[in-house]
Amino acid sequence: MADLNFPDKQLLDKLATLLGPQGFIADRDLIAPWLVDWRDRYHGESAALLAPADAAQTAAIVRLCAEARVALVPQGGNTGTVAGATPAADGSALLLSTRRMNRLRAISADDNSVIAEAGVILSDLHDAAAAIGRRFPLSLAAKGSATIGGLVSTNAGGTQVLRFGPMRALVLGIEAVLPDGSLFDGLATLRKDNRGYDLRQLLTGAEGTLGVVTAAALRLVPAISGRAVAWAGLSSPRDALTLLRRLEERTGEAVESFELVPANALALVLRNIPGTRPPLDASHAWNVLIEAVGGRGADPEAMLEQGLAAAIEDGLVQDATIASSEAQAEALWTLRESISPAEKIDGHSLKHDISVPVLDMPAFLDRERDRLEAHFPGSRIIAFGHLGDGNIHFNLLPPPGEDRLAWIARHGAEASAMVHDRVAAAGGSLSAEHGIGQAKLAEFARLTDQPRLHTLRAIKRALDPLGIMNPGKLVPPE
Ligand SMILES: Cc1cc2nc3c(=O)[nH]c(=O)nc-3n(C[C@H](O)[C@H](O)[C@H](O)COP(=O)(O)OP(=O)(O)OC[C@H]3O[C@@H](n4cnc5c(N)ncnc54)[C@H](O)[C@@H]3O)c2cc1C
Repeated sequence: MADLNFPDKQLLDKLATLLGPQGFIADRDLIAPWLVDWRDRYHGESAALLAPADAAQTAAIVRLCAEARVALVPQGGNTGTVAGATPAADGSALLLSTRRMNRLRAISADDNSVIAEAGVILSDLHDAAAAIGRRFPLSLAAKGSATIGGLVSTNAGGTQVLRFGPMRALVLGIEAVLPDGSLFDGLATLRKDNRGYDLRQLLTGAEGTLGVVTAAALRLVPAISGRAVAWAGLSSPRDALTLLRRLEERTGEAVESFELVPANALALVLRNIPGTRPPLDASHAWNVLIEAVGGRGADPEAMLEQGLAAAIEDGLVQDATIASSEAQAEALWTLRESISPAEKIDGHSLKHDISVPVLDMPAFLDRERDRLEAHFPGSRIIAFGHLGDGNIHFNLLPPPGEDRLAWIARHGAEASAMVHDRVAAAGGSLSAEHGIGQAKLAEFARLTDQPRLHTLRAIKRALDPLGIMNPGKLVPPE
């Protein structure tokens, strides 16, 4: 790919004129918070933050930057966990924020669809869908900041993948500015479209390396008549998976979320997040948070109650509670959704976002936790998340008393390689839902077969021959 330039005064002046004071921000204090990734591990630089008001302005920015051969880094809510939205530290790239493109262009209960601009925040979309009796069935703990453009571009997962799949399964159409500045208009809400290569799917999960998503057409589903949220304590991930299958047999597709929480993750939340309380009387080695929903006539609470009572009788579940109000349901969800924030408050940890075939995950967890903790005495594995999808966040806390960042600098590469090697041997993925960004790039290159790498690079070269879109992310250099 061609060499890139640093933004010069001429380019910056043109961009300032194009975007006006609202859309061209060069004040260092205002840009600074957006130059650091959510985990505070990567620190970038950028001469300006560009915030276009619409797709036309986005296209004009990309054309000017392509002409000047200057890199752009798209950014939504900056909640990504692999530093995909953090520009390079040398200041060679400009940050392109979608924050001002935050309109819902259309929403239809009759068509079960919505067209949302890239900067729409996920929780705002949830509210808008609820207002017309529909649901957008994807949720995650960062819903108050994560944007539609970011969710599309990372093919985000979250807590409802079990039933509805990841973002990929919910995207009907995409509008995007391609790296040459042209506007790809694929926003139609078609349910079937067989015109060859699926550009909508290519742009989904592309992490901003193939263009800037400016809007997406998304699938909605009917609102639920009610939900039941339960917390169960049990002794192993294998028992948890058995419980999931039994509940599914009883309730059909009613179980939407099934989240694994180990005792040490719960303890971290109770210690660091004010207002949280233990959900059960005693502590259990493992816990699951279960959400079941009801359609017409179905009573999710009764279904969960019967299923959990039978599981307690069989000795599969040690104890369980079902929320008796929305406030209690929210309190249980807060325990689950606060794990990442609680980890952050606790200090740095070494993160792995892995998947292996669902049935293999319980044995993988037991084996690899013991192996890692024995290899790095004093370290602890916090393994939590989407067990029903075979996706666990397998995070390593350095031994107590260690300077965590220094420990990670010394041992992190070895520890991550140990985890990722085993994941690869199990036929799994080193990035189940967070993407590659810059944080996972080296490991992705190390463990990925040539046909996949070759194809990835060929697609990148074909669509972005100048290499201006989010360089240094996702696509390993040759
Ligand atoms: C507490 C917490 C919990 C989380 N839980 C989950 C979870 O359960 N499941 C999950 O999948 N993720 C999870 N995440 C990660 C994160 O929320 C998702 O990756 C989310 O999709 C990022 O959205 P964003 O708007 O913040 O994107 P950003 O972080 O701003 O960007 C992410 C990537 O997308 C690119 N990008 C952003 N917008 C665009 C655009 N319009 N066009 C092209 N490229 C773009 C960026 O360049 C970057 O590569 C969690 C994060 C946090 C902090």
